[in-house]
Amino acid sequence: MQQKYASQIHRCFRCGYCEFPADYSSFNCPPYKRFRFETYSTAGRLWLIYAWLKGEVEWSEHLAEVLYTCTTCKNCTEQCPMKFAPDIVDWIVGARSDMVEKGRIPPRVARFFEAVYGYGNPLKLLRSDRAAWANGTKMYAPGDEYLLYVGCLGSYDENGQKMAKSLVDVFNAAGVSFGILGNDEECCGNEVYMLGEMGLFQTLVEKNNQKFKELGVKKIVTVCPHGYNVMKNRYPALGGSFEVYHYTQLLYDLINKNKVKLNRNKAKVTYQDPCFLGRYNKIYDEPRQILRSIPGVELVEMEKNRADAFCCGGGGGNFVMDLLAGGEESPARIRVREAYETGASILAVACPSCLTMFTDAVKTEDLDGKLAVKDISQIVKESLPAKKR
Ligand code: SF4
Ligand code: SF4
Repeated sequence: MQQKYASQIHRCFRCGYCEFPADYSSFNCPPYKRFRFETYSTAGRLWLIYAWLKGEVEWSEHLAEVLYTCTTCKNCTEQCPMKFAPDIVDWIVGARSDMVEKGRIPPRVARFFEAVYGYGNPLKLLRSDRAAWANGTKMYAPGDEYLLYVGCLGSYDENGQKMAKSLVDVFNAAGVSFGILGNDEECCGNEVYMLGEMGLFQTLVEKNNQKFKELGVKKIVTVCPHGYNVMKNRYPALGGSFEVYHYTQLLYDLINKNKVKLNRNKAKVTYQDPCFLGRYNKIYDEPRQILRSIPGVELVEMEKNRADAFCCGGGGGNFVMDLLAGGEESPARIRVREAYETGASILAVACPSCLTMFTDAVKTEDLDGKLAVKDISQIVKESLPAKKR
């Protein structure tokens, strides 16, 4: 791979700034916070990659697992003071890609790829069930303004499906011209890329781009920030030619244009910035503005927010592989405790991965009935005038 990176990686002097948020108040690299061994910090991971590139350590399943516990949250690129900071996650992805090429990956990662390869989704669920949630939602046809790209979690996961259904209802209430791909939709490939399977990634992107081209798709709106990220930042280089929006951008626009009217919905709400919306794409304001535009909603911030937000732990495929699972220090459990400390009754999210990770964590933390986890699409739907819902 990336012998070329070795000359840069060794400049990491293990200062550890990358483990913190901007105010150094607590650890902010999820695997480091979870395991508290230097090996699992950014620097530990980079030095392991360096040693591996130099032939100083042998491959082992443990070495691979250390690399794969990185949730690709990008806290490190935000905090590292070195010029190479923007490249850190690329180095980790590059090392993973090298392991994939050599066929030396942990079994859970291999199962993730096999599922996407065989079923078009990492959950290993039937392609023919991809649109089972959709209940008559219109299929995309040439001339529709937007393609609603639902994604794997939106299609199959119980919580993701709630998001997809809420969005469909809100878009219908606002008179948006849109349709879905139904069973013809493929995995977006964001996690496949982050896990380093570049061949499979390319195949997925080519299939999706081809489909979009055939249908004349000009604008895509995604349920999930992961899909938004990869379609915005990686599809164009592989022939994609369309505008892409995360649903919060479109919703905010619809609210501003008075196409979505919102009733009073009294609640104290805190908001989790998803890594692939916030740190990756700097979309911090629209989700907050949507919440503020609901009469009766009081938005309170967690101490670590925006570029300092603490990842739910589900990134980099971990919402399926669960390499960080278990224990009080699992990222999702830490984050729901932080959300509860704000006094909010609702933890709002804008990502199906965050929704599932936090829904589970609230149960484990015994916060059921005290802290509800809801996606912004669900909160907006609940705030529509009754006859529009
Ligand atoms: S990655 Fe950057 S911030 Fe982290 S230890 Fe290395 S030099 Fe320091
Ligand atoms: S991307 Fe996130 S999880 Fe990975 S090393 Fe950086 S801070 Fe840690």
